[in-house]
Amino acid sequence: MKTPQLLNYACDSWLAGEGDLAQLPSAIDGSPVAMTGSGGLDFAAMLDHARDVGGPALRKMTFHERARLLKALGLAVMARKEELYELSYSTGATRKDGWIDIEGGAGTLFSFSSKGRRELPDGHVLLDGQLETLSRNGTFMGQHIFTSLQGAAVHINAFNFPVWGMLEKLAPTLLAGVPAIVKPASATAYLTEAAFRIMIESGLLPPGSVQLIVGHVGDLFDHLSCQDIVSFTGSAATAMKLQTHPVIARESVRFVAERDSLNASVLGPDAGPGTPEFDLFVKEVATEMTVKAGQKCTAIRRAMAPAEHLDALEKALGERLASTRVGDPRSEDTRMGALVSLAQRDDVRARIAELEAAGARIVAGDPAADPPVEGGAFLPPVLLRTDDPWSTEAVHDVEPFGPVSTIMPYKDLGDAIALANRGRGSLCLSLFTHDGATAREFVLGAGAYHGRMLVIDRTNAAESTGHGSPLPVLTHGGPGRAGGGEEMGGVRGVKHYMQRTAIQSSPAMIGAIAGAFYISGAPKHEIDVHPFRKPMSKLNVGDTLKTGSRTVTLGDIEHFAHFTGDNFYAHMDEEAARASPIFEGRVAHGYLILSFAAGLFVDPAPGPVLANTGLENLRFLTPLYPGDSMRVELTVRSKSLKGEDTGVVRWAVEIFNQKDDIVAAYDLLTENIP
Ligand code: NAP
Repeated sequence: MKTPQLLNYACDSWLAGEGDLAQLPSAIDGSPVAMTGSGGLDFAAMLDHARDVGGPALRKMTFHERARLLKALGLAVMARKEELYELSYSTGATRKDGWIDIEGGAGTLFSFSSKGRRELPDGHVLLDGQLETLSRNGTFMGQHIFTSLQGAAVHINAFNFPVWGMLEKLAPTLLAGVPAIVKPASATAYLTEAAFRIMIESGLLPPGSVQLIVGHVGDLFDHLSCQDIVSFTGSAATAMKLQTHPVIARESVRFVAERDSLNASVLGPDAGPGTPEFDLFVKEVATEMTVKAGQKCTAIRRAMAPAEHLDALEKALGERLASTRVGDPRSEDTRMGALVSLAQRDDVRARIAELEAAGARIVAGDPAADPPVEGGAFLPPVLLRTDDPWSTEAVHDVEPFGPVSTIMPYKDLGDAIALANRGRGSLCLSLFTHDGATAREFVLGAGAYHGRMLVIDRTNAAESTGHGSPLPVLTHGGPGRAGGGEEMGGVRGVKHYMQRTAIQSSPAMIGAIAGAFYISGAPKHEIDVHPFRKPMSKLNVGDTLKTGSRTVTLGDIEHFAHFTGDNFYAHMDEEAARASPIFEGRVAHGYLILSFAAGLFVDPAPGPVLANTGLENLRFLTPLYPGDSMRVELTVRSKSLKGEDTGVVRWAVEIFNQKDDIVAAYDLLTENIP
């Protein structure tokens, strides 16, 4: 049977690469899986298509519309996941490895979809921080905003997670309203192409919003502009080559680099053999070495233990690794599959030899072991040990991208911190300790060198997501050697694909720019129908209810104090209140003011407002004295969808006294019928 050729997707057409094609072999037995190449593509035209067609279409959609698109894409991938699992075996991955890649990828789309609908406005502009007062009378203000970049995102991905690697970058990019050109690593491009094809065939994506290159990127970099962004995942050597491209420097093209990383895991001084933390540590190191055959940028490469526990660690880890069944990933009793290719296996063997030459010795596993399947890229887990981690640079520098880790001793916590930081920046570090003081000292000493840190003990291990799992809601990336990049992290990840601009103008003008967000101080639209009587779709940002006023008496204050038990001096002791540097006498309770405010603005009948779900940014600004009166202005600040059947309205609540001084201000959140 002829080996199938992967297709590029350029300018909304599937195109076969011309000229020389590369053959992609199966990791299991070396048999050909696909041919690939991108010769003949017009890379400049692809960038133009993304900028001229994809970008405008995506930017026309609101954050919420794009968030719903992500969810639909995730569902489309899930509906055809078995096709992907079948291909995934050829990459050497077991079903469990494939689950992280395929369902983890779809899960990332779902997570960003949910974040987008809950945390972003149903509009096009994202506000950044609070309004800054720039003038005495408040007519001239400052507000930072984010708008979508108007170029293309070029995603260059590593081979190890062909589906997740694509989707974890696409999710924030599309949510930001930016089109993408995806270039997967060739070794596993057949799996990326299949997942990409599913998304195209779903018919959900606007034209020009995504394109695919299965092969080299030609002269693409020569045509990048200041509105484009390159997000690269792979080796330090390739990152360096791409990051120093003259166009990247000349045009200040954003360049996100996720590179290799000598991640460490540390057994705390309190966590000797016999403690739950010791057992958890052994389990975690073994898991990180064997999941995905250790081909994870976050895998534990350096395992550190107090010197007196290193022998016990070597024994326990060695026993655990010996029971790892390495074999054909399609077989159900296989715990660890193959590396991605023979070339990758040979590279890992060479890195092990480098570590040995630098003084580390193998204490478990044989790198030269016969493969369980002829022609397959198999390698058993290999554990190395060094007893003098300060005398060799290699254990902190050489990354064998496979099932390999080195154990090493430390003298005291300061020594462990210094050793962990000797990796010169990592994606993640885990510390196994049941002692809060140890955790604090470690994090203060090492935080600056690591992008993510897990502190694991007996109380959280069962629910821990694990050392090596990047999560959509948390930042993935690390300083220094790890590339200095940041991805995901919820809405933070979306902002990498947007431009922050400081706007200076009147509140009304800033409100007009923000669109779907009421800026305090901007004009309000007073409405006749009570806003609690309107479904969310009929409410407009800026709609305002102005209530009547009520007087707050001393009797009210005393009644409230007796009723609630809140007899704080400021409300109940005239002399003490006068003596305070803040009050001129007894004042109304803040909680009483809030309760009276609700009494003034609430419309009692059931629906469309279903429930009060919280207050945010509450400030009491002017004391309210007995005899003062209060009134409320309730304004729709923003609206967002929570699920299919409910929405959230954010109301700006401002409480004024009889002199129109602002007594209190806060945001009220209600759950509403959409
Ligand atoms: P790689 O050789 O650097 O390749 C990475 C990507 O760059 C591939 O898509 C590759 O395409 C592409 N590439 C190579 N040369 C290029 C060029 N001149 N122009 C444009 N693109 C080019 O890395 P790898 O061996 O695939 O991946 C393993 C490394 O990635 C490990 O060091 C690992 O630690 C790191 N990694 C880091 C993360 C992270 O999030 N920090 C995640 C996963 C992996 P071709 O395959 O077509 O050459």
